[in-house]
Amino acid sequence: MSISMPMKPNGDVIVFDIGGTHFRHAVFTQGGIGGSPPIKEETPSVFSHPKEDVKTLQQELVGKIANAVRFHRAKNPSIKLVGISFPAPVNSKGVALRTSGIWEDKGDNFPLLDRVKRQLCQPGEEDISVFVANDLTAAAESYAYEYRKSGKPCNFRLFDVVTISTGIGSKIYDMQTEEVLLNNEGTAGEIGHRPVTLQLGEEPLRCDCGAMNHLGSFASGRGIERVAQREAQKFPESFKESSLFKLTAGQIAQIKNELISKAILEKDPFCNAILEKNTLYLAQVLAQIANAVGITKFIITGGFALSLADRYLDSLINSLLQLKDYFYMQSEEEIRRMPELGNLGDTAGLCGIGLFASKRYERLQREQPRILSLPSSSSSSQPPQGEQVPHVRQMAATK
Ligand SMILES: [Zn+2]
Repeated sequence: MSISMPMKPNGDVIVFDIGGTHFRHAVFTQGGIGGSPPIKEETPSVFSHPKEDVKTLQQELVGKIANAVRFHRAKNPSIKLVGISFPAPVNSKGVALRTSGIWEDKGDNFPLLDRVKRQLCQPGEEDISVFVANDLTAAAESYAYEYRKSGKPCNFRLFDVVTISTGIGSKIYDMQTEEVLLNNEGTAGEIGHRPVTLQLGEEPLRCDCGAMNHLGSFASGRGIERVAQREAQKFPESFKESSLFKLTAGQIAQIKNELISKAILEKDPFCNAILEKNTLYLAQVLAQIANAVGITKFIITGGFALSLADRYLDSLINSLLQLKDYFYMQSEEEIRRMPELGNLGDTAGLCGIGLFASKRYERLQREQPRILSLPSSSSSSQPPQGEQVPHVRQMAATK
């Protein structure tokens, strides 16, 4: 199957890519970041401000976002769109459901869209449209755009963006409908919290969420640290002979995934064995998604995977091939071609949320007459994920 879809971004968008430590903002224009480079600011998190109340930190972030919008609009007052990529599941009302990477569980169910919209209350800001999406949804938009732009024939309909960083997440994108697959709540892809089948001799391991033997227990950045620390305790002689021992001065508590990556790239057998085991857990889950949903392309991204780049990809391909009996429809060659590295650089999130906001705004413009003709109680009048529909809301409120 060959799909050809021209991309048509609609106007400039002030874009935000919120991370656990920093957030960046810029102006997205014509499919890229135009003019000035992105501006980086500190994210007010519980990790950087452990004594501060979470509500205060949340208000600080909202205030920083509004100030940045005003900064960009001072240069170009005609910009009406704002897109915010946020590192948490975000529902259809723009509520961040889990915020553990920024505010732990004290910040859950944060109505980010509503709060930003309320903050943008100065004269001239009434018609600003704000769109919020999960960061992987934004990244998936970027990858889809790059595929289209490359002009290469696209021989798959669905692809799955999988991130291996502190945690593990994924989002499936449909190239035909140009949408991320989400449930009615606007969420999906939490594969990091799916149980895996333990390999021979493997002992159970608790996940960040509290459950046992989730994919994230072993294969996330935090998981691989825990596995390496456990292996170092269990096999002190092997640890002593490893590069990791030298890198940590023999201190098990100092084992961090940056050092594990370094040791793997130095071809350290102790750390290589951990990587092989951990990609096998990821392969278990990917094979099941491939079979159940019909995915033939996995785009692997995230800090831990990208720090190892081809080494990580080779290990994952090797693990998928070990599980080739899980694949009913694919040949070995097709399995080899399934994963690829997604390395669009650090503007992928900003571009992705710009594409997302442009597309949702265009759709809103198309659908608004139809929405307004529906009764306000109709479920069909629900806006798509994370959208603010100021005119529709005003209409509903006056009924
Ligand atoms: Zn879990």
